[in-house]
Amino acid sequence: MKSFRKELWFDTTRRRQLINITPDVSKALAESGIQEGLLLCNAMHITASVFINDDESGLHNDYEQWLEKLAPEKPHSQYQHNGFEDNADAHLKRTIMGREVVVAVTGGKLDFGPWEQIFYGEFDGKRRKRVLVKIIGE
Ligand code: ZN
Repeated sequence: MKSFRKELWFDTTRRRQLINITPDVSKALAESGIQEGLLLCNAMHITASVFINDDESGLHNDYEQWLEKLAPEKPHSQYQHNGFEDNADAHLKRTIMGREVVVAVTGGKLDFGPWEQIFYGEFDGKRRKRVLVKIIGE
């Protein structure tokens, strides 16, 4: 069995941002040379997510509204976590949007359902953060 590991780095311009990382993940899969197996992709930070959904701007705005209703960023004082930090909302948003995805690799390609794309969800950005891609198979 082969295994392959790669880190993808992101430095968002905004505090919250969704980035379609499917091209980066597909590139990592191509570099791995693995044809049949499993690909894990996870955020390596507790204030960012990796998830799969549609690349549709209306939906992305809906995520922003929904997450702000569930865990509003402000006022920062509403959260016990915000003593020396101001990112309690980002921890909560990350929890609900998830840490990782696993995608089947078939014939050297990501074996997606219709419209599935992989996203990096940043909830406490404006600094360099990374995503792990780990692939195992043959
Ligand atoms: Zn924190």
